[in-house]
Amino acid sequence: MSKRPPTHPNPPAPPANAGEELVVFNPVSKWQEYVEVPGLTLFDIHREPRRENEDPDARVRIQLKVLGPEFHCPVCLGYIRNTRIVKECLHRFCYDCIEKCLRVGKKQCPQCRIHIPSRRSFRPDTNFDELIKSIYGDIEELEKLEELEIEKLNKKNMNNAYAESRKRGMLHQAEQRKRKAAIPGLLGETVTPPARGNAGLKESPLIEIILRRHPQETAVDRLRKEYIRTSKEMTMETLKIFLGRKLGYSPYQHFQILAIADEDAVVLPNDITLAVVHREICDNPMNREMILYYRILPEIFDYTG
Ligand SMILES: [Zn+2]
Ligand SMILES: [Zn+2]
Repeated sequence: MSKRPPTHPNPPAPPANAGEELVVFNPVSKWQEYVEVPGLTLFDIHREPRRENEDPDARVRIQLKVLGPEFHCPVCLGYIRNTRIVKECLHRFCYDCIEKCLRVGKKQCPQCRIHIPSRRSFRPDTNFDELIKSIYGDIEELEKLEELEIEKLNKKNMNNAYAESRKRGMLHQAEQRKRKAAIPGLLGETVTPPARGNAGLKESPLIEIILRRHPQETAVDRLRKEYIRTSKEMTMETLKIFLGRKLGYSPYQHFQILAIADEDAVVLPNDITLAVVHREICDNPMNREMILYYRILPEIFDYTG
């Protein structure tokens, strides 16, 4: 950026480089803009100045998570304990941390690397200690709680990952079974698996499902009738064609159909049937009706499902 010319008390003279067009990118307007005053974008020149708040009782609410990093020591990443402030740059650290840094490391601020001549550059900041205490209370207790919370989250994530892979595995197996059943000659003894349920009582060829728009989907409408009674042998691909027609969206391949089981969403492949989805994923007595969700994923160009 060019240096700004000295300011004149008179109306500003046209910039020295008026002849050549100086264009810069203004990140606020997202435009390439001509610069009237070097160093300032059009936005800077024409924006309204911020008005001063003159109300003495005015309060500003700031989210704690915005301020959070201010209260953490850049060395140990915990809450700052026994605050020391570096005179040269006003960065804050735990007393133990900055003391150790100076003792074993270089004589510089761990955050900005400004030279710290000696320990005399540190000042205690008791106000800051008090502030931390008034916001967070007992730091020892808090850190213990946070550790527990992190442990819980880690455990949950691991379980979710496990459930997800287990369901993928079941789907895969179901597909394999279907393929084998479809070509009995190839594997000799393979026969179609017997229908489940009481012998003699013919299983209904129909299934009832609820086909619902994914909560985050906005590109297509909801179905006017979510409740659908259809053939068990309907595949996900046929369901997508149905959705495309009903909702006036093409290509239907953009649709993605998901089943949710144990709080996890599983993307259903094109060639799988409703019967298989019902048996392998949603067959849960607590949750009688099978709910499938649809959404649009145009960025996926692999239409194989
Ligand atoms: Zn520290
Ligand atoms: Zn510093």
